[in-house]
Amino acid sequence: MDKYDILVGGKWEKPESGEYGRAIDPSNGSVVAEFAVAGKEDTGRAVEAGRRAFEHGEWSRFSYRKRAGVLARAAEIMEEISEELNELESRNGGKPIRQASFFDIPLAISCIQYYASLGESADREGSQFGRRKIEQPDYPGTYGIIDHEPYGVVGAIVPWNVPLLMAAWKTAPALLAGNSVLLKPSHITPLTALKLGEIFYRAGLPEGTLSVLPGEGKVVGSELASNRDIDALSFTGSTETGKEVMRLCSGNAKKVMLELGGKSPNIVFEDANLDRAVRAAMFAVFLHSGQLCESGTRLLLSKKIYDKFLERMEKRAASMRMGPTDDMGTDIGPLISRKQLDKVKSYIDLGVSEGARLIHAGKNDITEWDPASGYYVKPTIFADVTRDMKISREEIFGPVLAVMKFSDEEEAASLANDTIYGLASAIWTSDMGRAFRVGRQIRAGTVWINDYHLLTTYAPRGGYKQSGFGRELGEEGFAEYLQTKHYFINEDGQMEDGAYDVVNATGNDPEA
Ligand code: NAD
Repeated sequence: MDKYDILVGGKWEKPESGEYGRAIDPSNGSVVAEFAVAGKEDTGRAVEAGRRAFEHGEWSRFSYRKRAGVLARAAEIMEEISEELNELESRNGGKPIRQASFFDIPLAISCIQYYASLGESADREGSQFGRRKIEQPDYPGTYGIIDHEPYGVVGAIVPWNVPLLMAAWKTAPALLAGNSVLLKPSHITPLTALKLGEIFYRAGLPEGTLSVLPGEGKVVGSELASNRDIDALSFTGSTETGKEVMRLCSGNAKKVMLELGGKSPNIVFEDANLDRAVRAAMFAVFLHSGQLCESGTRLLLSKKIYDKFLERMEKRAASMRMGPTDDMGTDIGPLISRKQLDKVKSYIDLGVSEGARLIHAGKNDITEWDPASGYYVKPTIFADVTRDMKISREEIFGPVLAVMKFSDEEEAASLANDTIYGLASAIWTSDMGRAFRVGRQIRAGTVWINDYHLLTTYAPRGGYKQSGFGRELGEEGFAEYLQTKHYFINEDGQMEDGAYDVVNATGNDPEA
């Protein structure tokens, strides 16, 4: 069985505590690998290595182009070992292999490729990420230079549901900007993040620049948030933990970016292409068993199509196959842990007691496999949900859909916004005027029109309201890891000194 140590600044090191944890396959409880559990002292060593690399190393002084070369090589290595990454992500994360190999791994590679290509052109004269000259007409004879610089040492905390992708979304732009990075994967799913660290060093990353610290949130995560030698922190996880992280970051007023939870509305109008909308509604909520922050967990249906739409969904849900992660025929895999299984089941009980109509479908027809050995929940649909029910308001993070009915655009938008979250949303209609009318009213960072879940690395994504702030991906996602410096330049000192008179009038000047 594989055994991973901690990656501190490029060197594999034993944890000070000597403790090793087990990464589990949640579809059958088997051990995938062992990994060293990082503690506070290990985190301290990694912070020192990152600081040293930033202050005295070459990475922060390289051009964007040179850093982009390392990213491009890392993406190539990932492509070379993509089979291994697919398998590791699938087994440790409980993702059906079809999902890991179609989404997680290719999207992680394309994110790193995207930032490599952005870096290729970022040094150019006038680039928004490099140096550019500006006029300062309010001070004749002067001009300004706007420059961009890395923050220094950046902490990156990621959750268990999309381990490699989230790690790529944070490390690629943060490294391209010239920062040192301390990556903390979830202690449930640390394996592909450790691999990613190794890949970056194989691709030529200088020593000290990146550490990967698998450990408990309350130990390593809170140390990264509160450590005063860390300059910025990017966090992805639940809204509750995000608020605690924000509080800890206030100790040294470090920059913080939060990508938090969601309860995203998927709105279907009567004029939509219903064939696609039915399939997409299934995809929206059941991909990765609903364990995605942007899952379409609230389906808002026009009352004109409500019954027939539900009927079709019910049939489709009944045909979904639950199974082990390594089976290409599996549609719906396990939940990540016993804790998550208990939480989801308690929400299903709650929905029943709140009076929603339960449709609990799906079949186990994969032979030689015992669903009781993993953390499985059948695709679950609650119809006739109302806005006061908790199942329509709280993030369940499982394959549980709440279906609600609306009469018109106003009611659809009002239902969509009736949550503390604002991560994503979708609108299904053949009328683009209506799509934008409703889209403008929705307070969420992403609005899909006649689609769901599809991500492009070219576009920024992030939350409104308690889904967080800051953006990942796209140019905006890169700019988050850079700070802006202004040089005010009075080259030949020709500007009038009028301003100085405010504290020392010329009439009082002893040298005059
Ligand atoms: P979580 O908040 O429990 O943990 C997230 C990460 O924070 C983990 O690495 C964990 O170890 C760490 N952590 C826990 N306590 C901490 C503390 N006190 N200080 C610092 N770090 C701490 O979330 P989870 O259960 O791992 O992930 C699921 C959540 O993540 C869901 O709410 C989901 O919506 C959200 N999520 C959001 C996005 C997004 O882009 N907005 C993407 C994926 C997941």
